[in-house]
Amino acid sequence: MKNIFFCMMMKTIHSISFLLVVSLLLFPAGAAGDSDYIITGHNTARKISIRASSRNSINHGVVKVMDANRETCWISDGSAGPQWITVDFGSKRLITSIVVCPGKKDNYPTISYFKLQFLNSSWFDYATVQTRRPGAFGYTSKGRMEIDLAGMDASTFRIFIPADAMIRGFASIAEIEIYMGASKLAFFDDRLKGICLPIQNGYLPASDYSYPNAPRAYRGGRHSGIDFYNYHTEDSYDPVQLTETTPVFAADKGVVIRADHDYESIDIKEWRRRSAYYQTHPATYMRNAFGGREVWIDHRNGVVTTYNHLSSIDPEIKPGRRVSRGKKIGTAGNSGLAGEAEGKLYGIHLHFEIWIDGNYLGYGMSMQDVRKYYQWIVLNAR
Ligand SMILES: [Zn+2]
Repeated sequence: MKNIFFCMMMKTIHSISFLLVVSLLLFPAGAAGDSDYIITGHNTARKISIRASSRNSINHGVVKVMDANRETCWISDGSAGPQWITVDFGSKRLITSIVVCPGKKDNYPTISYFKLQFLNSSWFDYATVQTRRPGAFGYTSKGRMEIDLAGMDASTFRIFIPADAMIRGFASIAEIEIYMGASKLAFFDDRLKGICLPIQNGYLPASDYSYPNAPRAYRGGRHSGIDFYNYHTEDSYDPVQLTETTPVFAADKGVVIRADHDYESIDIKEWRRRSAYYQTHPATYMRNAFGGREVWIDHRNGVVTTYNHLSSIDPEIKPGRRVSRGKKIGTAGNSGLAGEAEGKLYGIHLHFEIWIDGNYLGYGMSMQDVRKYYQWIVLNAR
């Protein structure tokens, strides 16, 4: 977790202002609610809004109920009940079952029962679910409660926790899972869960310029990856700049499909000529344009990752070679960039791309969604 501390700090500033605006829109004055949204798959047209009556802290916000992690919880702010979480798909979905995993606060269960409600001009109770293990003494509770809906088309539901269901003054939920038959509604894209960062302790960039979709005037195109310029050591969170000796690692297991061992640098005159050319000639084929010395890895599930501007590629990294997650593939650099063409060391970074089903991650997304998606990847990185 600590490798994300810095970027989360930077993110916090954005989030607070965003949440304030949203909160003001969704909650009347005086109510301290929490709202967020998640992206399903890698298609941002399918956003799901989630709102809670309150939240304990930024680390216990409502989004924790849909992060596919039972260890993290939404927790209410300690105010009197009732407390609730609303899930809004935006349009009708067929749902066959909903699973609710109650959460804990300070290791104690927090709810003795909850109601599943649907909206039909007003909220009505569909089910009341006891979370205490039958006959159990004290604060033990069942971990996972499945509510069979026998087929329901609904666009909105909520988990409602009455005041008398709250234990020790708090309500908490760890996960809400939504099923259509055997298939669970996947939040974000599970194929990207658990990939590791290609730079150890790498920091997500602060600037929009380093994210997908940012314009790239020098080649008349758009950025399709994310740029890692900094990382931190084991001893400190101070950002350290990548150098030409910083190792680059495979983000996940897969097969190398490209490794530019035969890459040849160009001089700055030629670099400027190509740059000027592409600014006036939008290209559909730029294999050796500006990515420099590249490695591509096919993860064999519709996901391909690419590593660009490398200063070196390890000798055994060749097309056809299987690699494991975290395998060192080379070192960072500035190949393909003006710095290398000038024979200098400026501009060293790792440009890293994630391609899913033929689109780069971030394609068609707003900058806010791109950042949210990458933060999710970092949170789930191994
Ligand atoms: Zn880049």
